[in-house]
Amino acid sequence: MARLAGKTAIITGSGNGMGKAMALRFAQEGAQVLVSDRDEAGVQATVDAITAAGGKAVGDVTDVSDEAAVKALVHRAETEFGHLDILVNNAGIVDNFKTVVSATDESWDKVLKINLYAPFWSCREAVPIMEAQENGGVILNISSVGGFFGGRGGAAYVTSKHAVIGLTRNIAATYGVKGKVRANVLAPGSVVTNIGATITDPDPVGQKALQASGGFESPQGSGEDMADAALYLVSDEAKFVNGSVLVADGGWTAL
Ligand code: ADP
Repeated sequence: MARLAGKTAIITGSGNGMGKAMALRFAQEGAQVLVSDRDEAGVQATVDAITAAGGKAVGDVTDVSDEAAVKALVHRAETEFGHLDILVNNAGIVDNFKTVVSATDESWDKVLKINLYAPFWSCREAVPIMEAQENGGVILNISSVGGFFGGRGGAAYVTSKHAVIGLTRNIAATYGVKGKVRANVLAPGSVVTNIGATITDPDPVGQKALQASGGFESPQGSGEDMADAALYLVSDEAKFVNGSVLVADGGWTAL
């Protein structure tokens, strides 16, 4: 029996990288996936790959820094599929290792909107939908080892990744006890699909601090490694796992 048979899922940032790997994996396990990204070509490529493999997916182009668009995205799952079982907040950006000194209001806001406000906005819409459903629902927010360690990214990135852990635990504590909504975090280490590849014009002070912390000397996971970890957390096998953070970093931060 497929592990997500009959389930529906929204995955933001699933046009590329680990979000794409999650979309493919969830579809392979029987989920209908709303593949969402601001990258239209990426959305199409993910939908095509799922369809070619015999899975079911609907494409959606949404910029998650737009509150109204995030709201529409969550409700689109209900329109398309009739219910919303799984929400994965995976879309994310880095801040090029900007430090507290070199960050500007603009760079700070940009990172916080995508990495933190978007999960807040989508959870605000999704929790009532999930609570009203007989079988509830599952939220998975993607943090990072930067959610625990100051030296795994720039100031805004690290702040956003710490904060999303707090948001998720609060959702679990507030809504999870009724058994209707589970909310967990996946905290990847270095991933080859990595968001790190999108770094442009790195801040030299922040980059040097990251190097000094050993931030570049990490085992590299694949998007599929992250998809397998995510699959566990959203599946019924994790039905008693709520408010947890699963670190998937190949042992990097255990060192
Ligand atoms: P990783 O998979 O390592 O996190 P990627 O950069 O490959 O890194 O994937 C991040 C995804 O998030 C990309 O597909 C990107 O288009 C998406 N994304 C980034 N910002 C936004 C945004 N504002 N709205 C929607 N998707 C976004």
